[in-house]
Amino acid sequence: MSDCIFCKIINKELPSTVVYEDEQILAFKDINPVTPVHILVIPKKHISNLNEVEPEDEATIGKIYTVIKQIARKEGIAEKGYRIIVNCGEDGGQEVGHLHFHILGGKKLGTKIV
Ligand code: AMP
Ligand code: ZN
Repeated sequence: MSDCIFCKIINKELPSTVVYEDEQILAFKDINPVTPVHILVIPKKHISNLNEVEPEDEATIGKIYTVIKQIARKEGIAEKGYRIIVNCGEDGGQEVGHLHFHILGGKKLGTKIV
């Protein structure tokens, strides 16, 4: 997807602060952090959002959760906890059309989701 900013980040056409990378997955710091730790974890394959996940993506999506666990430990937020958010579509507040998992942590978050 040539006009996707996260694909450009994957292809290193746009800069980012990478915290994890393997063949299927990239994680980088959110450019506009809303918590002390705010990292985005994405599949390298362009998947627009959760509605577009296919059975062939199951291994990658599953691995994203073990990557999240590793990142949380490395960032020092594993024990105190953190929140994972995946926005989907207009009502879900999704602004970038490439599936991404927000890791939010480093402070005590409220109990309300909306
Ligand atoms: P969402 O509203 O779930 O689509 O979230 C998109 C997120 O991408 C926001 O938290 C933005 O701050 C973040 N973002 C947008 N552009 C960049 C970028 N170039 N590098 C890092 N994060 C970005
Ligand atoms: Zn993309």
